[in-house]
Amino acid sequence: MTAVRLSLPVLQNWDCHNCGGCCRQHQIEITAEERQRIIDQNWTEADGVPADKAIVPMSGWFGTPRYRLGHQPDGACVFLNEQGLCRIHAKFGELGKPLACRVYPYAFHPAGKTVAVSLRFSCPSVVKNVGRPVSSQQAEIRRIADAVVPGDSTTIAPPALNATDRVDWSDFHRFVDALDATLAQANTPFLDRVLQAYVWTSLVGQSTFAKLRGDRIRDFLELVQTAAAAEVPSLRSNLVEPTKVGRLYFRLLVAQYARKDTAASVAEGWLGRWRLLRAVWKFSRGQGDIPPLQELFHSVPFSALEPSFGPLSPDQQEIFTRYFRVKVQGLHFCGPAYYDVPFVEGFHSLLLVLPVTMWIARWLAVGEGRNQLTTDDIAHALSIVDHHHGYSPALGQTAARSRVRSLASTGDIPRLVQWYCR
Ligand code: SF4
Repeated sequence: MTAVRLSLPVLQNWDCHNCGGCCRQHQIEITAEERQRIIDQNWTEADGVPADKAIVPMSGWFGTPRYRLGHQPDGACVFLNEQGLCRIHAKFGELGKPLACRVYPYAFHPAGKTVAVSLRFSCPSVVKNVGRPVSSQQAEIRRIADAVVPGDSTTIAPPALNATDRVDWSDFHRFVDALDATLAQANTPFLDRVLQAYVWTSLVGQSTFAKLRGDRIRDFLELVQTAAAAEVPSLRSNLVEPTKVGRLYFRLLVAQYARKDTAASVAEGWLGRWRLLRAVWKFSRGQGDIPPLQELFHSVPFSALEPSFGPLSPDQQEIFTRYFRVKVQGLHFCGPAYYDVPFVEGFHSLLLVLPVTMWIARWLAVGEGRNQLTTDDIAHALSIVDHHHGYSPALGQTAARSRVRSLASTGDIPRLVQWYCR
C-alpha cells in the first residue's frame, strides 16, 4: 500500500482491448499465495483447464520452488480461452488473477517523492494509443500501484547520472525534465530532437558533477542543450554509414530484440539453443539470408534492408515521440527500471530502440515484398522490440551493455539512427 503521489504520462491513451497478446507472450510467475488461490479456484477439465496443467514448476530452477501458470501447446496461457479472454477473469473477476496480469502494461518506478508510471509498448493498444487518456485513469492505476509499489519507495535513491556521478532526486529530475523538453520541441523535426538529446546526454556522460548542484545544473543543461541544437544540423547534412564494427554490434543487438522466448521454445532444450546459436552466428556475419527468429519473419537477404525506405511520416514520428516521452517521463530507461544503468547509458540504450525498430519494420515489409514502410510495420516492430527492452536478461548482461557503450564511443549511435530512418 502506498500513499505516494503517482506521476502519470500526459500523452498516452490506453484501455485493454482483449487482444490476448500479453497472455500469449509472457511467462506468468506466481507467488505462493497466488498459487494457493488458483488451486482453491478448483479448475477442472470441464472448465477447459485440467488441474494438473494450470500451474507448473519453473523450468531449470533448483532453489526454493517457483511456479508459473501453465501454457497451451502454442505457448498461450492455459487460462486463455478460445475467444481470447481470461477464464480466471470471467469466473472470479479481476482480483482472481495473478498480480502480474493485473499490472500489465503499466510499470511503476520510484521517483523520489512520487512514483513515475510508464507503459509497455509490447501491448498493441499502447502502441496505437487507443483507449481513454491514462491521465484520466488515476483511481484504477492507484489500486494497482497500491498492490505493487513498496511502502518505502520514497527512500530509494535516484539512478546514477553517468559512470562516476550521482545527484539527489531534485537535481536528477532536472536532467529528466530537460530530456523530455528536448524530445517535446513542437517545431523541430523528430530526428533533430533525438539527435540533440543524444549529443547533450553524451556531454553529460563526459562531465563531472561533483561541484554542480541546483541552479548551476540548470545553467549547465541550458548550455549543453544550446550546444547540441547548434551541432545537429552538421550531423544531419553529413550522412555517414555506420562503421563495420558498429554494424556488427547493432546486428547482435537486433538479434536479441527479435527473439521470441516462449515456454514452447524453452522446452525445445538443446535443439532450441543450437538453433539460436546458429542464428546468432548468421547475424554476426550479416551475409546471406536473415534467419527467421520467430514465425512471423520471412527469410530475406540482410542486404535487402539497407537501401533507403523513405523518411518517417508524421504518424510514424508521433509513435516514436510518444514512445520516447512516455519512457523518459516514466523513468523507464535507467536505474531499477533498466538493469540499474546510469541516466546517460540508459538513454543511449533507449535511443537504439529507434534503429532496431526500423530494421525490424524493414524486415517485416521486405518479407511481404514491399520496399516502403507502413505505420503498422513500425507499430508491430516496436511492440516486438519493447517486449524485451528492460525485461530480457540478455540486454542487461555485461556484453550487451558494453556494446551499447562502444556504439556511443565510436559515434555509431547517431549514424545508425539516421541510416535506418531514411
Ligand atoms: S491468467 Fe488470464 S490474464 Fe493472466 S496470462 Fe493467463 S489468460 Fe492472461
